[in-house]
Amino acid sequence: MTEVVRRHTIVAEPAGAVLDIDLGAITANWRNLSARHETGAVAGVVKADAYGLGADAVAPALYAAGCRHFFTALRDEALAIRALVPEAMVAVLNGLFPGTEADYIANQIVPVLGSRAEMEAWDAAAGRAGRALPAILHIDTGMARLGLTPDELEAPVPDGVLVLYVMTHLVSSERPDDPLNAEQKRRFAACCARFPGVPRSVANSSGIFLRGFGSELARAGAALYGINPTPGRDNPMRQVVRLVARVLAVRDILPGQSVGYNATWRAARPSRIATAAIGYADGWMRSQSNRGAAVFDGRPLPLVGRVSMDLATFDATDHPGLRQGDWLELIGPHRTPDDVAEAAGTNGYEVLTSLGRRFHRVYRPAA
Ligand SMILES: *Cc1c(COP(=O)(O)O)cnc(C)c1O
Repeated sequence: MTEVVRRHTIVAEPAGAVLDIDLGAITANWRNLSARHETGAVAGVVKADAYGLGADAVAPALYAAGCRHFFTALRDEALAIRALVPEAMVAVLNGLFPGTEADYIANQIVPVLGSRAEMEAWDAAAGRAGRALPAILHIDTGMARLGLTPDELEAPVPDGVLVLYVMTHLVSSERPDDPLNAEQKRRFAACCARFPGVPRSVANSSGIFLRGFGSELARAGAALYGINPTPGRDNPMRQVVRLVARVLAVRDILPGQSVGYNATWRAARPSRIATAAIGYADGWMRSQSNRGAAVFDGRPLPLVGRVSMDLATFDATDHPGLRQGDWLELIGPHRTPDDVAEAAGTNGYEVLTSLGRRFHRVYRPAA
């Protein structure tokens, strides 16, 4: 593919859309979070393929920056990065699936144990291995998804389970005023009293920005990838993702003419419609129909009509300079994942993890 410089970005000429991922911004964000989390380290959460950005690129970049703790959701995700982050802790949030213990041991992957049954299975595996095996204990303090209930902590932890961290997960950390934060902290402290001297892991990205939620290990995902951990306030993180799509056609339409499936938008004036190579098959959510936007030359173009599978249409009437072959910014410095999320009725996490598989990807190296 010929790499050419075209207005804003280096692109591969044949691609419909280009996803540009700045690994240097991710490592800068990790350093920023590490400096703020004064009580302990900051782990990189790289589940769901590093929030859609590519765990095989993100994990080694974080490792090179000094990150030594990683979390995935699934065992297969942990196996995929294990060799890329030698010596680092790689832990699996979703727990220990029965029968997979040997896989964890052989690959030095740490299970996050969330039930009595998982603790007992890990203890049995330790018995077979002839040594205690490291694990993280997940304590449920309000999420009611995974994790040991305070009742399940009544009985002692089996000897074969070497507890690296006791962990809990905050329900509403992005809302500093939510009384649930303090309530979870109180419940967790009560449980931690059973584990004197054992390191704790509490904050996710937003939790790092709460006062008084520091622990020995924070677990940051979203903020590493540029999502605002402090909604409603300025985003302290650097933008990581730039998504641009090529304009395939520009056409003039008359007042009253409709655009797209089911004619959900009609021109009120003589209009120019730019059709770009991005659609819901790329994770460009259909819920943005008549609500989303793109940016060209620093100014917005409203998304008009329905988003289709491979195409989206934009009102370029106020952009007389826009031509076929130009690139529209869909995510970037002028339009963040959080902005896209707002138009799509979701959050930045879903925007990033939905990003499609057929983009041409460009990784900017960290150093
Ligand atoms: C996903 C996840 C995180 C990371 O949360 P962010 O808000 O993306 O920083 C941390 N802990 C657990 C248990 C998670 O599931």
